[in-house]
Amino acid sequence: MSASPAQLAAALPQTQCRRCGYEDCEAYAQAIAHGEAEINRCPPGGAEGIERLARLSGRPPLPLDPSCGEEAPRALAVIDEAWCIGCTLCIQACPVDCIIGAPRQMHTVIDDQCTGCELCVLACPVDCIAMEPVTPGCTGWTAWSPAQADAARARYEFRQERLARERHEHETRLAERAAVPPRATLTQTTPGVNDAATPAAGSTVPSDDAARRRATIEAALARARAQREKHAPGS
Ligand code: SF4
Ligand code: SF4
Ligand code: SF4
Repeated sequence: MSASPAQLAAALPQTQCRRCGYEDCEAYAQAIAHGEAEINRCPPGGAEGIERLARLSGRPPLPLDPSCGEEAPRALAVIDEAWCIGCTLCIQACPVDCIIGAPRQMHTVIDDQCTGCELCVLACPVDCIAMEPVTPGCTGWTAWSPAQADAARARYEFRQERLARERHEHETRLAERAAVPPRATLTQTTPGVNDAATPAAGSTVPSDDAARRRATIEAALARARAQREKHAPGS
């Protein structure tokens, strides 16, 4: 008999790295359970992980699909704080909320919570995050314990709940704002003056906050580029 999605999910490492091609470990477990995915797409679980999935699903073991990556020692994200521009993009990308920092301040990783998913590396606009192997000679489930997987899953689920709550609060604020009648000055259009500035009711034009954040990131990127050019060999 084939295992349930919950049983399959419990056999996955929960790094939430997306190397399997799915949004998270849960989505990959669902795909296996529904016969939509092979059992050999999880590099963090490695060969032992494939064996576990084979036993649970009743399918034969397969070699790891190389298009998903290689089975390798686990790595930790390390931020080069000298180059960090404090843009917070890594915080937004981290599936287990293990990066600490604030806008325009250097960021740092909580080592024992990092799953090695590498999603922050992809998000960093100034390439100041490196992945450093921390389990030399150990890969898959010899480099990652069931307790670590459980903790990573709990942190991921907590984050998902937080994001859902924040989305809901944001949508509520937008709906409340849309319900307020526009001010008289905005409804009386003056050709050439108000046309472009008057948002339609219910529109989701970028807020001042978003524009300010973008401007801050762009300014910080320009500063980082200038600094790199200054320190480049031969300059
Ligand atoms: S650990 Fe990564 S590759 Fe493995 S199932 Fe989870 S998200 Fe997919
Ligand atoms: S710090 Fe980076 S590598 Fe570590 S869990 Fe967060 S996003 Fe993944
Ligand atoms: S994404 Fe890079 S530059 Fe931006 S806060 Fe994170 S480490 Fe710093």
